[in-house]
Amino acid sequence: MKIHHDKHHAKYVTVTNTMIAGTELEGKDVVTILRKAYGTNQALFNNAAQSYNHAFYWDCMKPNGGGKPTGKLLEMITKTWGDYDKFRAEFINAGMTAFGSGWAWLVWTPAGLKITKTIGADCPLTNAGEVPLLTMDVWEHAYYLNYQNMRNTYAETFIDKLVNWDFVAKQLENAK
Ligand code: MN
Repeated sequence: MKIHHDKHHAKYVTVTNTMIAGTELEGKDVVTILRKAYGTNQALFNNAAQSYNHAFYWDCMKPNGGGKPTGKLLEMITKTWGDYDKFRAEFINAGMTAFGSGWAWLVWTPAGLKITKTIGADCPLTNAGEVPLLTMDVWEHAYYLNYQNMRNTYAETFIDKLVNWDFVAKQLENAK
């Protein structure tokens, strides 16, 4: 995670800042930058979205996290998927079936919760009405050093031992 944060994430931030230097986007927040670049400047979008995705990903984790969420979040998950284990399986499956490099997401939409996956740097912020609640990086650099090709073991460890459900619940509160 140290290399992931200090090398991979840091580079996306550095490149984004270099690309926006001297433009109207200099000093703007990362969400504004990635939305502005979406569909018009792919290189800037990739770096800005990866800056955002990673910052969000770190917030989604804490030491000794994981297990089941509680409260309103658990209620909504149970209502949507039947029980937590079905949600867990579908979230892991989203990560497993993101072909190549990508991200698994739990998002809030006006119609309810849903699990999605994105490829490359793409993120739900460019889809109208979708608010990210939780993400898991499934680029190889996220797991290869610890788990080699075992993306599944990484995904299970992420959801069972690392997710910061308090952060996810806060995103849900803010989404409504
Ligand atoms: Mn990453």
